Amino acid sequence: METTSAAQPHRLSAIASFHAHIYFDDATRTEAARLRQWMADRFLVTLGRWHDALVGPHERPMYQVAFAVDVFPVLVPWLMLNHGRLSVLVHPNTTEPLADHTAHALWIGSPLGIRSEKLPSHGEAELAREPNTTPTIAA
Ligand code: ZN
Repeated sequence: METTSAAQPHRLSAIASFHAHIYFDDATRTEAARLRQWMADRFLVTLGRWHDALVGPHERPMYQVAFAVDVFPVLVPWLMLNHGRLSVLVHPNTTEPLADHTAHALWIGSPLGIRSEKLPSHGEAELAREPNTTPTIAA
């Protein structure tokens, strides 16, 4: 008997946007700042505030990079090449915040923990916001 016949894969259209969270500590803060400037110069993204204090499900200071679905195939490979010693969490934004940050996420560099108890199972999918960068350099 097939028990999975009713299961369907998630549709790509479930992804409203993406985030990359760039984690740093005292030893890597300068590298995080340099990476942020490199991204600002190269990609149409929304760079979030620096969070030196822990926020949300994150276990280390970080800043967020929000971007549209069509930026993923250029920004994510570029981060693979250029993250240096920094850990980066890339996750989709769907209506499932908990899964987005865990089962649906990918890590570039060393994976860190996620405080999953801080994340709801369901919520509003976050649409891409107005970019705040003006890229002038080809990636
Ligand atoms: Zn996020």
